[in-house]
Amino acid sequence: MLEHSSRFDVKGSMEEKDFFDERPDKKQATLNCPHCHQSADYEVTWLVRTKKRQLPGRADERDRARFAKAKSYMVRKDDLLACKNMRCRKRFEISGLQSVVILE
Ligand SMILES: [Zn+2]
Repeated sequence: MLEHSSRFDVKGSMEEKDFFDERPDKKQATLNCPHCHQSADYEVTWLVRTKKRQLPGRADERDRARFAKAKSYMVRKDDLLACKNMRCRKRFEISGLQSVVILE
């Protein structure tokens, strides 16, 4: 399930941040370095956006429609990691993980 956050960018009177509570979170992921091909566990930083229980009172019709469709999701913050293999230690791009995860 890969969806892009841009679908929330439709202009209404409210912004995306009015719909969600935001907090950073770290998650373990096993990733393969493309340089030395070693896999290791890495801590990847995500931004978790949890849908609010209620929309603030100033929401209009269109905001309510957007809010009804909105789901909690998380966005990956980290793009680059440093390889944990001491003989490599190159930086590599996270490619095996999706960048946006919709939470149910
Ligand atoms: Zn490496």
